[in-house]
Amino acid sequence: MLFLVDAMLGNVAKKLRLLGFDSEYFSDIDDSELIEKAKNENRTIISRDHDLINRAKKNEMSFVYITKENEIEQFLEILESTHLKLDEISGDAARCTKCNSLTSQISKSEIKNKIPQGLLEYHDKFWKCDGCDQIYWEGTHIKNLQEFVHKINL
Ligand SMILES: [Zn+2]
Repeated sequence: MLFLVDAMLGNVAKKLRLLGFDSEYFSDIDDSELIEKAKNENRTIISRDHDLINRAKKNEMSFVYITKENEIEQFLEILESTHLKLDEISGDAARCTKCNSLTSQISKSEIKNKIPQGLLEYHDKFWKCDGCDQIYWEGTHIKNLQEFVHKINL
């Protein structure tokens, strides 16, 4: 399932990417462009903008209408309308939070001079974005996400 997340929901887009869902997000895009892109790429629109959701409805596109403020409740709305389930978080499945590309595991020797020595000693697994070369490790963002998913599944 592919998503297109509207500009007001940047945090949702970031979490969906870490969870491994292909989620396009643009901080600055007008509604017509967004509708067109979602249609062309067969993406489910996630939005809290009533007008945008109405346009998606008229175009018979799939959408998730977010009405809650709380992030956990927002994710419950997404899971409810998409019938997706969230399991354990894995760094291998995560997509780049910056550009939505897939990430690949890389060896420590490849990044030896690119990240602080402390990180290399403290972590075993590292990933690099296939798109923008951003380097990831199972740091606090993954731990926080694990807790987040745990709360969703309670
Ligand atoms: Zn990237």
